[in-house]
Amino acid sequence: SRRTLIAGNWKMNGSAAAVDAFASAIAADAGSTDADLLVCVPFVYIERMARGLAGTGVALGAQNLADVGEPGAYTGEVNGAMLRESGCTHVIVGHSERRAMYGETDSVVAAKLEAAVAAGLVPVVCVGETLAEREADRAEAVLSAQVDALFEQCRPESLARMVLAYEPVWAIGTGRSASPEQAQAIHAFLRGRIAQQDATLANSMQLLYGGSVKPDNAAALFAGADVDGALVGGASLKADSFLDIARAAP
Ligand code: 13P
Repeated sequence: SRRTLIAGNWKMNGSAAAVDAFASAIAADAGSTDADLLVCVPFVYIERMARGLAGTGVALGAQNLADVGEPGAYTGEVNGAMLRESGCTHVIVGHSERRAMYGETDSVVAAKLEAAVAAGLVPVVCVGETLAEREADRAEAVLSAQVDALFEQCRPESLARMVLAYEPVWAIGTGRSASPEQAQAIHAFLRGRIAQQDATLANSMQLLYGGSVKPDNAAALFAGADVDGALVGGASLKADSFLDIARAAP
């Protein structure tokens, strides 16, 4: 009953020409998948991509937003209302690159989740363990702490709006995806952890897998009962590989 969502995260990649090429290829072919599609591009390309995707049914998102909603003296920041006005319906929150490189703590992630929901955006919240944490057998503890922080710091109504993405840091951009068994096991664990707080929410929440998802491994990953789609980095930059992943969805 949960819908499948295939989300692209362009990270700091792309150009005006790449946006136009992606949008026209998607516009020609978006009907070839039953999955819901979302692409998250750099701020400066949001409006251009919105024009290109108009009428395709493909959703548009940003990769970050300010942790405050009120406009004001926050140089370099972009708030959720601006994203909505530019055509976004979604925003990635707490990607591991932002946690590791830009100092986003669980509290910042929680504040951004609330700011996204307050602006009417769906937050795609990322969690994941590093290789060192997995090898030390701490993956479940790390993931529990990341999820529990959301439940401690966010309102239930806000959590009901979110999508959760499991992105093991060791699988991101490495070409080394989690195995379908590893992904399903963690997704089942995360759903169980959420169920301890709210069983109804655990059942309805979409859980995406991210980390080296490609056309050739997507179908096996999607076979996991608790895997409701993917958050795709590198393979989302080209419409053909992104759509091939989407067409692998059940
Ligand atoms: P890759 O698909 O390039 O490994 O990136 C995954 C990711 O971080 C998506 O947010």
